[in-house]
Amino acid sequence: MVRALGSQYTLGELLGSGAMGQVYRGADHEGNQYAFKLLRGDLVDDKDFVARFHQERSILVTLRGENLVAVHDLVIEGSTAAIVMDLVSGGTLREQLTATGPILPAEVARIGSGIANALHEVHQAGIVHRDVKPENVLMDDAAPIRTPRLTDFGIAKMAEGSRVGRSTLMAGTPQYVAPEVADGQSVTPAADLYSLGITLYEMCCGVTPFHGETVLQVLRSHAEKLPGRPDGIPDELWEVIWGLLQKNPAARPRSAAQVSAALGSLAQRFWQAQI
Ligand code: ADP
Ligand code: MG
Repeated sequence: MVRALGSQYTLGELLGSGAMGQVYRGADHEGNQYAFKLLRGDLVDDKDFVARFHQERSILVTLRGENLVAVHDLVIEGSTAAIVMDLVSGGTLREQLTATGPILPAEVARIGSGIANALHEVHQAGIVHRDVKPENVLMDDAAPIRTPRLTDFGIAKMAEGSRVGRSTLMAGTPQYVAPEVADGQSVTPAADLYSLGITLYEMCCGVTPFHGETVLQVLRSHAEKLPGRPDGIPDELWEVIWGLLQKNPAARPRSAAQVSAALGSLAQRFWQAQI
């Protein structure tokens, strides 16, 4: 099925769907291929959301980086709002984890360095991602080596004030959310570093460190429990993860750039040591 989006784009096959809406493959009239994220209809009814959508436009469309999914355009057409972005083939990091299970330290460090690099760009632009997790990392197969690309930046913030968005988006995703965020404090870049720490932990051993039967229990365990050290994880990698998972945001590394550099050099060393 092919349908038009505004006067510029045509949409084709459905690629996936998520909490915010559905993602389609499509193209502009010159034949350039993109992914189109069509946002939920109830968001488009919301004046606050539409205002934010326009407000964020100028920031999002200028954000570029080798580890980001570039946003090319934000369009509102009738009752449809869509984000036009790079089409990334290779699925999500979540799909990779589900297919292969835990990832070797050298790859964890390499992919982690890429995600941290993306966070650096996002933070430099004054944005906090708020929802770093394997679902929001796309793996780019077109690059010479499978490259992580962070997506969904700025989206959580746009949806912040919306009626439906509030309960589902304010808290991020319980398994990945920093203790201070669960506690209702303002969200800073350090919260993204915490979520990156949880993501790295999960890449190493296949499960996230904090659990519970209810959302509240999960959030409590972020605040109260210490993460158990997974088997077989090299000391240097554990040190990085431990630093990211500090309860006190001020005790986490000072910048995503620093984390990216540290993980990048670990990736090289682990690769040489074949671990
Ligand atoms: P949500 O955040 O609302 O859950 P996502 O942005 O994660 O939605 O997208 C849902 C699915 O669509 C993803 O799991 C992925 O399979 C697919 N997808 C999203 N963005 C792209 C893209 N830029 N290129 C290719 N596939 C994508
Ligand atoms: Mg997502």
